[in-house]
Amino acid sequence: MLGTSWTAERRHEVPGQPAPGTGIVEAPDSVMTSDPSQPAPQATDPKPTPTPAPPGGSEVPRPRRRPRYSGRNPRRFEERYKEHDPTRYLADAAKIEASGKTLAGSHRPILVEEILGVLDPKPGETAVDCTLGYGGHARRLLERVTAGDAPGRLLGLDVDPIELPKTESRLRALGFGDTAFVARRSNYAGMAKVLGELGWGTADVILADLGVSSMQLDDPQRGFTYKQDGPLDLRMNPQRSPSAAQWLATVGEADLQGALQSGADEPHAAVLARGLVRARAVEPITRTRQLAELIRSLLPERSKEDQDLSVRRVFQAIRIVVNDEFGGLDAWLRLLPGCLGPGGRVAVLTFHSGEDRRVKQAFRVGLDQGIYSAIADEVIRAGPEEQRANPRSSSAKLRWAVRAAGNS
Ligand code: SAH
Repeated sequence: MLGTSWTAERRHEVPGQPAPGTGIVEAPDSVMTSDPSQPAPQATDPKPTPTPAPPGGSEVPRPRRRPRYSGRNPRRFEERYKEHDPTRYLADAAKIEASGKTLAGSHRPILVEEILGVLDPKPGETAVDCTLGYGGHARRLLERVTAGDAPGRLLGLDVDPIELPKTESRLRALGFGDTAFVARRSNYAGMAKVLGELGWGTADVILADLGVSSMQLDDPQRGFTYKQDGPLDLRMNPQRSPSAAQWLATVGEADLQGALQSGADEPHAAVLARGLVRARAVEPITRTRQLAELIRSLLPERSKEDQDLSVRRVFQAIRIVVNDEFGGLDAWLRLLPGCLGPGGRVAVLTFHSGEDRRVKQAFRVGLDQGIYSAIADEVIRAGPEEQRANPRSSSAKLRWAVRAAGNS
């Protein structure tokens, strides 16, 4: 049965412009502790695992209570609880997805049918999903390569150590065992190495869906959103590289301006770089809201809409630097032909011109050199219906290529 707190909502998944208040990342302990002075709303109880009766006293720790919220549904990120326990509510998730809505705290895969069309995964084939995310695309690829009990398999890569284990357990709970599905926390630039370690040789099908996931955008603690305050982090892998705040504390003005231009074509890059470098001398820039306010204050003549666009672009540009997104993409595009078997197909979803230019160029050069036998002439874009249902799809561009037989 659908719990009343299982909030389905239309997403606003423009990179750097997330929907507020959703996410599946675990809430900090402090919001999960119970307050004995208030009764829990019964209708929305998450049915915690029953605690065995203590044999001799009351020393057994009680299960943690979910956070309290007012009203029928939890609205704030830290109040949500089903999203924090993804495998337990698979049936609810399936119902909501079947109704055409997007689950709060999940990621709606983009251009799924189009991707399946160009990749044409067949039973028994080997696939790589370079950006596993929530596993939406991976699930569909797995269904195809393992159809009729065929020995197909999929390697799912992602740099995100927080979401990857949840996605792995979700896909396992759907019945994909460890011969069919392997999940690895790795940059996709390490794809060749992982394929080698697994002894899988080359792949028949490779997918990369670039950028960030809705789960990453939705969690204010990860610092991708400026709609809610949080630490200025922006790392897909918080265990690696400097955070956005650390990078912003030391980057030179010229490098900052260059990053804003190359990462987001920011028209006010010079003004913003100068202003941010001056501002950090007064007070370190460590919070998402603080950075957003600073950017707006540096563009006083601009309309609110223009200011907001600059905020979005600056967050995107900083995210690209902090995660070395262009470095990773360039490396991946170089090693891609060596990972595809003869006739192997690759599909790439990009979300801004800096990404699309690189993919387009690499595919063109590969076609000229005979590495690819065919590439997309035009990008494939989401139709109006998909764009309405999932605004993040409106900036998506799909390109594909087919590996030539017998060339390296
Ligand atoms: N197709 C996925 C969604 C992918 S969202 C789905 O259907 O759910 C993009 C994902 O790519 C994020 O989880 C992000 O952590 C991951 N990612 C971004 N850059 C990466 C890189 N260089 N290597 C591996 N994963 C990366």
